[in-house]
Amino acid sequence: MVQLRREVKEEVTRILRDLIRIDTTNPPGNETAAAKYVAKNLSQDGFECVLRESALSRGNVITRLAGTGEKPSLLLLSHLDIVAANPDEWSVDPFGGVVKDGFVWGRGALDMKGMTAIELMALKLLKRNGVKLKGDVVLAATADEEKGGEAGAGYLLENFPQEVFADYVLNEGGGLAISAGTKNVYTVQTAEKGLLWLRVKARGFPGHGSTPNVADNAILRMNKVIEQLENYRAPIVLVPTVKQFLSNLAREDDALREPFSRLLAHPGEADVILDELAKTEKLLAEELRPRIRMTIAPTMIRGGVKENVIPSECEATFDCRILPGQTVADALALIKGLLQGVGLDKLTFEVVHANEPSESPMETPLYEAITSVLEGFEPNCGVTPVLMTGGTDSRFFRAKGSVCYGFHPMRPEMPKESGAVKREHGIDERISIENLVFGTSVLYETVKKFMT
Ligand SMILES: [Zn+2]
Repeated sequence: MVQLRREVKEEVTRILRDLIRIDTTNPPGNETAAAKYVAKNLSQDGFECVLRESALSRGNVITRLAGTGEKPSLLLLSHLDIVAANPDEWSVDPFGGVVKDGFVWGRGALDMKGMTAIELMALKLLKRNGVKLKGDVVLAATADEEKGGEAGAGYLLENFPQEVFADYVLNEGGGLAISAGTKNVYTVQTAEKGLLWLRVKARGFPGHGSTPNVADNAILRMNKVIEQLENYRAPIVLVPTVKQFLSNLAREDDALREPFSRLLAHPGEADVILDELAKTEKLLAEELRPRIRMTIAPTMIRGGVKENVIPSECEATFDCRILPGQTVADALALIKGLLQGVGLDKLTFEVVHANEPSESPMETPLYEAITSVLEGFEPNCGVTPVLMTGGTDSRFFRAKGSVCYGFHPMRPEMPKESGAVKREHGIDERISIENLVFGTSVLYETVKKFMT
């Protein structure tokens, strides 16, 4: 392990710095440059990579370390694209690959070039150390995740499933430890919510603003739509991941024992329990609410053409997030049902985008391997599955039957309020070199444990 630490520290840091310096802001993406870097880096250790472009400059890269076939296959997945960064807002160049105060700074350090670097490093170490794998370990670094993944993971699974599909997948979305009292509880993302982006158009009849009742104002109709959806409280549903999360945290954290045990025993009282919790733990309570029910939030609105014209049209977009077990079709039917009183004949609905939710089981040998490796590094630690309210590329693989876990192992490295998660997509995104080494070590040992 000492030798691993020294080897890893310099090399994994260099890989991440190099990746940050390749600007893959999506749109447009330009991931091919980063994909070629990954291929070249892996070729130094004798890996053969395939480059798959879904469109010009939209590169994905795949490689494979073959096992004997006695065990199922495992994919180390990451995405190469990043969201935009405004250099004026940053204290360092977001594309400079700066190392400062023990951190690698830059857009993508956490989301998720840091994990790409860790996965590369772990794969190379498996080969260098001659680990006898019983199953294939595949690595794929893909395009387009930040814009939905259709030109990345979605494209690969659709066109080259034999190259990229694996029985198990490790990806972003979890891994960061939660501080519970004096111990770390490491998260494993086992589920993510689905989404329905719905554009609702309300129609009316135009007229003069000075005689409003002669006309039929579409803005007022939309007002009723918003009110109706805003007042709706979806039923509380505790999916397996959330149940397990609540009971694990109740066990590991003295301060959460009482509220979380009550929540598990009486889900119907969730709102009261979380209102109470919010008085002392506001953020935690608000993070929990969307994990126990469907949510519908208005996010865009547009209507009217002139100061003195009663508008005949108003449209609003709603971001609806659904739990595993629910479907996009159910959500759409439910929303239409809620709006019956507003007059469905005056409303039209357009699905802008939709993803089904997904959940993987926790009772698997990979989850066991993760737990036992983490306990090896930190005997006192806890491990818990988490549900993510957003989405990752894992959903493409779960839809094809893979067991997917979001697991980028990290120790908490920043104060709670400005925690690491906050800096994904934010200003001054960075990852500690300590965590790069830790992440590589845990990932390497996990694959080894799972595959030998
Ligand atoms: Zn990401």
